[in-house]
Amino acid sequence: MLEDKNQERTSLEQLGEFGLIDHLTRHFTLKQQSTVKGIGDDAAVLDFKGKKTVLTTDLLIEGVHFDLSYMPLKHLGYKAVMVNLSDVYAMNATPTQLTVSIAVSNRFPLEALEELYAGIQLACTTYGVDLVGGDTTSSQTGMLISVTALGVALKENIVYRSAAKPNDLLVVSGDLGGAYMGLQVLEREKEVFKVNPGNQPDLEPYSYIVERQLKPEARKDVIELLKQLEVRPTSMIDISDGLSSEILHLCKHSEVGCNLFEDKIPLDPTVISACEEFKIDSTLVALSGGEDYELLFTIDQGDFPKIKGNPNLTVIGHMTEANESAHLVTRDGSKIPLTAQGWNSFQTK
Ligand SMILES: [Mg+2]
Repeated sequence: MLEDKNQERTSLEQLGEFGLIDHLTRHFTLKQQSTVKGIGDDAAVLDFKGKKTVLTTDLLIEGVHFDLSYMPLKHLGYKAVMVNLSDVYAMNATPTQLTVSIAVSNRFPLEALEELYAGIQLACTTYGVDLVGGDTTSSQTGMLISVTALGVALKENIVYRSAAKPNDLLVVSGDLGGAYMGLQVLEREKEVFKVNPGNQPDLEPYSYIVERQLKPEARKDVIELLKQLEVRPTSMIDISDGLSSEILHLCKHSEVGCNLFEDKIPLDPTVISACEEFKIDSTLVALSGGEDYELLFTIDQGDFPKIKGNPNLTVIGHMTEANESAHLVTRDGSKIPLTAQGWNSFQTK
């Protein structure tokens, strides 16, 4: 649907594996002092000079995690990196290096992989991360991308999921539900396109939510903001699966309960109008939609004045004793147990 039909096609066999890696990575430059040796030997060599390293990896499979009929390859490369950087930031660490491995079927020409790597390179440049290795191989069906990200932090700065205390405030960055509603719009336009291929979709009214789906940003700025405000979260996680399941992770690992207030959940007006159009409950979308890549964290109540009124941060609830478990407090004041799927409306207390 968004594909450019007039592109050149150079078959991958013309380059061979080593030629391909050289070709795809030739414009990448190294920026991190901790990178001693990047691509070009049997392994990369890194030196973190006594700091702690964090490491995370993610596998994306065509047809499961992405759909190339509406996901441009450049965006896919960018997003594959963001998903990993978001996890590094969620540890309150700074991402430093990446490896990228791909498997592709012969339906992809060299030009397609160049697009993918242009997105990876843009992400590396924007976030100051070095690409230091990876692998390419062939696949029988479709495309697979595996990204591994390394990051660095002082031991005392690392924030785990496990140290939230009762009465801590629950805070989220940005707004929620946009990525899911963007996906709904793209899926709908794909169906329209199948029936009428001549019809180019007008995505302009949905640009915010479509961008949230296709080109998410990891919240490096929020980590820097918290440092600047001298707020160290007591626990933190990024929102990849949806607000409710991430809250339950914090509760489980920290052994606390939580009250989440429905009327505090930050929603962009575009998300609210798309929810009305698609007749979906906006709270359910925020709780279960996922892929927003915002940061969810807890802070000590004493830190509240430091974040109060900041447009990037919203207090959405507070932690409670473990035996009180996790609840959604709805707009009309009822308390509903929170589940990984959103909430369980049949177990109203
Ligand atoms: Mg995560």
